[in-house]
Amino acid sequence: MPELRREPVSGRWVIVATERAARPTDFETNPQIIKSGFCPFCEGNEDKTPPEILAYRDSDTMPNSDGWRVRVVPNKFPALQAEGEYLKSEEGIYDMMNGIGAHEVIIESPRHIQSLTSLDNGNVEEVLLCYRERLVDLKSDKRFVYGLLFKNVGFSAGASLEHTHSQLIVTPIVPPLVANEIAIAKTFYQHSKRCLFCDMIQQEMETDKRVVIPTDNFIVFAPFASRFPFEIWILPKKHESNFENLQGFEAEELAHILKSVLAKLEATLDFPPYNYIIHNAPFNVTEAEYFHWHIEIIPRLTNIAGFEWGTGFYINPTSPEEAAEMLRI
Ligand code: ZN
Ligand code: ZN
Repeated sequence: MPELRREPVSGRWVIVATERAARPTDFETNPQIIKSGFCPFCEGNEDKTPPEILAYRDSDTMPNSDGWRVRVVPNKFPALQAEGEYLKSEEGIYDMMNGIGAHEVIIESPRHIQSLTSLDNGNVEEVLLCYRERLVDLKSDKRFVYGLLFKNVGFSAGASLEHTHSQLIVTPIVPPLVANEIAIAKTFYQHSKRCLFCDMIQQEMETDKRVVIPTDNFIVFAPFASRFPFEIWILPKKHESNFENLQGFEAEELAHILKSVLAKLEATLDFPPYNYIIHNAPFNVTEAEYFHWHIEIIPRLTNIAGFEWGTGFYINPTSPEEAAEMLRI
């Protein structure tokens, strides 16, 4: 069973998941490529993954067989485990808890496609609807408090398989990074009675220096203090704290803009490795007046080195204004 441990000086939580890599030789120190060859995510290989949790498939097909369009399976090497109790304990000054949670893989296409941008819009829309459905389902488990949806593309962004997929990790504590974001937004709201995200959207629309794509319901922009070159955020313009409230027409529009902005990044930066992360409200926060769910897209062009590790500061060689200019569609 994985274990969550809290580092008392920084307040950082660490998941000790020893099932994932055991011996020193399991760590590749100079890996460059993702293993290709046999792919367990391709249609026809359904028996090579754990049994599916959810699939959008043709009505005359059976679970764990072909005929699906999007498929969700448990991660074969989970960081957190679904079985077990919510159990906190202490060891002197140290806090720890059972590594319960969920770790799922969303396989975005039955075909061996390497980029989400090669999917058609309807397919991307189904991926987003699938995210929504999994969040709604996992939210009903009272042991869990947070669900993080993310995507790793390319080896240096953490991907180990090239077949296009994303992941969902559900945790029994709110991740400190998210808790911090929520706390800052809440304090802003308490002092000003305004939503920090609504204010940010309004200012970005007015100044129009960092906007990449404005659409009816979303804004795509390079954030004012981007940590990384070509970092991009997507926010719903409407005040909405929970991704799982995404409506059908919004999923359609979001699919289109997500695909467009990723395609633009691929064209501009020659298929960079990247991560995207959906920051959502914790499960027990609904219709918060101070928060917007949002997607952060982070191309992995620079390394996090000593200074960044030591200070938490980032050095970004590309201004967000320049990045927006180059990415504007
Ligand atoms: Zn494949
Ligand atoms: Zn707002």
